[in-house]
Amino acid sequence: MLRSVIHSQTAKNDLTSSYRGMRIREELLSQFPLYKCPMCGLSEPRTLDHYLPKSKFPEFSVLAVNLIPVCYECNNRKGNRVSQKPESQFLHAIFHRVPKMTPLLIAVVQFGKEARIDFHIDSNAAMPKELIARVRYQFDKLDLENRFRKEASNILAVEIYHLARHFPFPRTPKAVAAVRLC
Ligand SMILES: [Zn+2]
Repeated sequence: MLRSVIHSQTAKNDLTSSYRGMRIREELLSQFPLYKCPMCGLSEPRTLDHYLPKSKFPEFSVLAVNLIPVCYECNNRKGNRVSQKPESQFLHAIFHRVPKMTPLLIAVVQFGKEARIDFHIDSNAAMPKELIARVRYQFDKLDLENRFRKEASNILAVEIYHLARHFPFPRTPKAVAAVRLC
């Protein structure tokens, strides 16, 4: 009953417009002690994501736990996706906890003419399969493999630049070994 009333066009517009104009949005963004987006860990969280999209769940438009500070790119890529299947759902930054001490993200570093780093989610990580599936879903939908690769390449390029200043060219085995430890 409540849901059908809320989903009437007038109520839906009232709820979503109250979010658009609300001062609390700015307050939430300024008070969240996050310097990095909780969905990617790469960029500053400058927008609020509706974990349950406001277009489909207007009753949660202004509910604080449904508003997650994230970066623009993650917010944009996540869009209005919603699913009944846990393996096709995004992680909620507050309610889902991924064990930090359990290796889940695998980085493969290859050294050729240029260093290349690829990232994968470990299907055999020691954590519930449903949690791994959610992480993989988020990893794919947010294009984190490419975004992590770009970030890692930038970091590696800076490290190589600094190392190159301290080791003579052509590359010595000692210099190569030092780069491999980055
Ligand atoms: Zn992000």
